Amino acid sequence: AAAGASSSNKSDAKWQKGKPIPYAALADVFSQIDKTTKRLEIQDILSTFLVTAIEHASTPEEVTQAIYLCINRLCPDYLGLELGLGESLIIKAIAQSTGRGVDKIKKDLEELGDLGRVAMASRAKQPTMFQSSALTVPGVFKTLKEIATTSGNKSQDKKIGLIMKLLSACKGEETKWIIRSIEGKLRIGLAEKTVMIALARSAVFTRFKTKNIDTLSDELKMAEEQCKAAFSEMPNYDILVPALIKDGPEGLRKTCHLTPGIPLKPMLARPTKAITEVLDRFEDRSFTCEYKYDGERAQIHFYVPGEANAIEGEQAAPTKEIAGSSSSNGASSSSSQGRLGVFSRNSEDMSVKYPDLLESIARCRKPETKSFVIDAEVTAWKAAVKNEAGEVIDAGGLQPFQQLSTRKRKDVQADKVTVKVKLFAFDILYLNGEPLLQYDLATRREKLRSAFNPNADEFDYATSQDCNTVEEIAAFLEASVQDRCEGLMVKMLQGKESTYEPSRRSQNWLKLKKDYLSGAGDSLDLVVLGGYYGKGKRTKVYGAFLLGCWDVDSESYQTVCKIGTGFTEANLEDFTAQLKPLELTVKKGYYDVGGATPDVYFEPKVVWEVRVADLSLSPIYTAAKGAIEARGISLRFPRFIRIRDDKDPEDSTGPEQIAEMYRKQASAQQGKKGGGGDD
Ligand code: ATP
Repeated sequence: AAAGASSSNKSDAKWQKGKPIPYAALADVFSQIDKTTKRLEIQDILSTFLVTAIEHASTPEEVTQAIYLCINRLCPDYLGLELGLGESLIIKAIAQSTGRGVDKIKKDLEELGDLGRVAMASRAKQPTMFQSSALTVPGVFKTLKEIATTSGNKSQDKKIGLIMKLLSACKGEETKWIIRSIEGKLRIGLAEKTVMIALARSAVFTRFKTKNIDTLSDELKMAEEQCKAAFSEMPNYDILVPALIKDGPEGLRKTCHLTPGIPLKPMLARPTKAITEVLDRFEDRSFTCEYKYDGERAQIHFYVPGEANAIEGEQAAPTKEIAGSSSSNGASSSSSQGRLGVFSRNSEDMSVKYPDLLESIARCRKPETKSFVIDAEVTAWKAAVKNEAGEVIDAGGLQPFQQLSTRKRKDVQADKVTVKVKLFAFDILYLNGEPLLQYDLATRREKLRSAFNPNADEFDYATSQDCNTVEEIAAFLEASVQDRCEGLMVKMLQGKESTYEPSRRSQNWLKLKKDYLSGAGDSLDLVVLGGYYGKGKRTKVYGAFLLGCWDVDSESYQTVCKIGTGFTEANLEDFTAQLKPLELTVKKGYYDVGGATPDVYFEPKVVWEVRVADLSLSPIYTAAKGAIEARGISLRFPRFIRIRDDKDPEDSTGPEQIAEMYRKQASAQQGKKGGGGDD
């Protein structure tokens, strides 16, 4: 069974050893993948291309660039450079490069529903004046990067100019793929995990100089595991791909491991609905409960550049230098203690939002703590207020999440902060040059508690208690709620199952929220996909919204519900102002909306947390369709809770989680009338 028979290089792309990878070859791969939904075939098409690319590329960077083009990115997440230009700018560029009117392009868009196809059709109508030289992968990548980084004066015109330059050199279907790359989504059903598998396989095929997947099956499986493990600790293709080409999958760990200065995807928890569920999971194993603070996740890195395996240079995430302390004679010392970075759940740089946090962490670090990576929650905090006699008149303490969300996102100066924050650290992944992911939680906790000097208003460790019985957990949960937390996190404490698992929603971390227990229902994070104009006095604002979730496998947004409850009048005005600029001419080609009919569709940018009492099978909405039945799952009586600006649309609650919630609800209702009911 030689893989690749079906996907030998059909394109007429001109590969030449040592010459840049022709873009036509990659465009052809996209076109082939677009025609199939079979995962194995997709893996095969892409790995065949990658083998040729590895053999021909003049530098490994070109292969990395091809990978980035496959996953619609330009760099690691933490460097924050994104594709995804707005519809109107792309329409303008297509109009100008083809000499057609914007109105005509919009009309075509209404008909064809996809800007990539519109651009292709527009170019077909255009007489060819002269033939530019063929596009190459590095050339396209460089221009896309330029488009994404162009800012400031006349940036719109510059971007349009760059898009026109690309379009003028496109041939055939290249036009479609270039436009979709500029939009930020290829929509060919090429999930990142498939790209990773194809990459791992291509390394094995190149090494053994054969594509016989039967004889190589063990090597392939191992290579996939090795690549995934390396990426989960070092989520950076610029480093991983060259290392893979040079050292092979088994040599990856020499280069790709947890490194201060490169934020990794955090470990996530699974929801539970009852304390008994916690005991079922952990049985007689040793576990611990911690307060679940209601704030914002923060991964904090501290390191001295040039020491141990700390990262330096352009692949390092943004960090701030922590200045050395003043010398004894009062003169300020010019020495640097190291670099400190704070990253969100999505690896975004949060140092601009929390400059005060950087200062307090630097203060609370013990002098002997020379490098660390910790996992923590930032919360809004009020210091205790005392009267002149020194009596406490306001105990202060944890403040609700709503208060944290009023904090400015940028340009905050440490001395002008109005919403004060305190950090609660709950895990440590790296300390003084040593990675700790493989240690059990009990050991990590000990190390965490040895590394800092907590103080009342800036830094503390998450309150924890090792519980064994339902009663103990219930009492600790009650205490967490009294102390203004969301509930508990219950974690495996010892043994192999208590290691830190980057990027996994693990069953070794369970979240037990008070709302789940009180029957208030599940909460989901959903993407705002559409708007319905209000009625009566709400005609100037959207009165309700269409919400959806991202399905990685089909690369589409599925719809979940229409929501019109939980908003204040002020909310509706604010959301209308925020969403109006995101309105689309037509719904995007990758919106699987089912029977929903909102008045307008939006660019998928905004994520809201909503609470729901009940899930049901629906003839209208499409979420998790096929998971339980052909019909999708919908929310009954959804209520808006809050904006989740720490989540990207692709981090919304996924279809498999929604199906899981439905199943749990169905089994809880067993004995009553069937599952969660029908819409
Ligand atoms: P949620 O909506 O519950 O915040 P999420 O998808 O952001 O969900 P989960 O992994 O499901 O993330 O829930 C865990 C979150 O709870 C963490 O991301 C973190 O921000 C927060 N948290 C608060 N206290 C703790 C703690 N002691 N241990 C781990 N996470 C904690």
